[in-house]
Amino acid sequence: MSTAVKHDDFQLPVMSGYAKESYDLCKAHKLSFQRCAKCKTFRQPPRPLCNKCHSFETEWAPVKGTGKLYAWTIPMNPIGKAWVSYMPYVAAIVELDEGPRMATWVTDVPHDQLKLNMPVKVWYDDLTSEVTVAKFKPA
Ligand SMILES: [Zn+2]
Repeated sequence: MSTAVKHDDFQLPVMSGYAKESYDLCKAHKLSFQRCAKCKTFRQPPRPLCNKCHSFETEWAPVKGTGKLYAWTIPMNPIGKAWVSYMPYVAAIVELDEGPRMATWVTDVPHDQLKLNMPVKVWYDDLTSEVTVAKFKPA
């Protein structure tokens, strides 16, 4: 069982535009990324224009939720009072098997066992009835 984060004091994301679309899919536990509907290139973070073919057509593509640890850091100074009880945590960039990279947390692993390219899989931290965030743990 993954450790869920207490959210009472965190500033939650503003739900509008692409962020709302993305968080709605995450809330349904369907990790998805925006991609170009014309050439299928992922757009991460989401944006209106494809930088490959310049199309404005978009779609949300579900991913398997597996990938590898691309980079990480372990912040030692909390960025706010709400973070104190979670220090230290693993702030990471995960590269999904389908290609897009995302900023996230990696949990359920001792920090001295983190390894570059280690396989990870998604889990969903339901912060509130409205907000779910995708986090990762060892696969
Ligand atoms: Zn395109």
